[in-house]
Amino acid sequence: MALQLELYRSAPRYLTERALSGRVPGVVTSPVAPLRLATAKDPRVPGPGWVGVKPLLSGICGSDLATVAGKSSFYFSPLVSLPFVLGHEVVGELADDCDELASGTRVVIEPVLSCLARGEDPPCRNCAAGNRGRCDRVTVGHVSAGLQTGYCKDTGGGWSRQFVAHRSQLHVVPDGLADDAAVLIEPLACAIHTAMRARVEPNDEVLVVGAGTVGALVTLALRSLTSAGRITVVAKHPKQRELAERMGADEVIEPKQATNAVRRSSHTMKLSPERGPDFLLGGVDVAIECAGSRGGLDTALRTTRAGGRVVLSAIPASGADLTPVWFRELEVAGAYTGGVERVDGESRGTFELAVELAQRSPLEGIVGARYPLRRWREAIDHALGAGKLGTSKVVFDPNA
Ligand SMILES: [Zn+2]
Ligand SMILES: [Zn+2]
Repeated sequence: MALQLELYRSAPRYLTERALSGRVPGVVTSPVAPLRLATAKDPRVPGPGWVGVKPLLSGICGSDLATVAGKSSFYFSPLVSLPFVLGHEVVGELADDCDELASGTRVVIEPVLSCLARGEDPPCRNCAAGNRGRCDRVTVGHVSAGLQTGYCKDTGGGWSRQFVAHRSQLHVVPDGLADDAAVLIEPLACAIHTAMRARVEPNDEVLVVGAGTVGALVTLALRSLTSAGRITVVAKHPKQRELAERMGADEVIEPKQATNAVRRSSHTMKLSPERGPDFLLGGVDVAIECAGSRGGLDTALRTTRAGGRVVLSAIPASGADLTPVWFRELEVAGAYTGGVERVDGESRGTFELAVELAQRSPLEGIVGARYPLRRWREAIDHALGAGKLGTSKVVFDPNA
């Protein structure tokens, strides 16, 4: 039997949540929230190549918070199966042997439930090319619908004492890497994929909007794996500023100063419309939206030069004005999870790169708070206010 934090969404409750959570503080973790702590049987291994995993630490991601708050798009509804246990940023130990990996091996999970995990043979053409994040079959096969571990009712998820994962999802954690750093490998893989999707040319000027965990790790990935020139990071809170600098930012600015700072560094002209934020004629070569806010996306779109590229690293908020995409002929690219990357002319798994980068990066202190599962309301409140509270990543310690 395993303790787990389950999202069960009875529709009326969920919709109440969706309507209220923007306006009433605390409602996300009130009894209205579609989340409950439950004791359930350990999930069954659904087919060959699957194994139980006991989480050591499980992160709380922005997408988890949007899901709990009922703020994620209805687009996702056919891509999940209820009830599910959230948690896709996981470092854990194998509960049994799995192929050559012995029981007790420390692993991180590549969360996409792709053709390989689902027993789809032959795989879809994206999986065949190694681009698992683009899998077309995330609703069929050996397990129920679920784009990732943490959104599928059959696999369980990281916010629990045990879930199941497929051999293709497992990556061994090197001995020297602490759990606090290992739990960041999944978000780091997403950040590496984002940096690659940015297609940065040598010396390109890059703007990173947002300096929570995503923005900080994207900055690290840009600095470590691309030949970006000046990297400017937009950060709201003092601790985020420090972190962005440590990750390699050349300049860190407040949201209100962003447009002026880019205007100065790229020697361009600023215009002020009758309504809405200022914009530039000229600007950075690449902007990366890591805040998931409408304001963040507007800033990215309005400070990128004509013909430049805007990458959506966070799930985009609705309501941004797309006029600059048309007028400035911007390329807008999404960056969702990972797969394979071309680095120095070689094809490498995004997760492999993340395991390597984690070992040579200053990740200490990014995990700023640990909570046992039974204190989930406090954990989620903390994660929702993390920036303000000076914390980057909040994690569950399911064994506490
Ligand atoms: Zn995530
Ligand atoms: Zn596939």
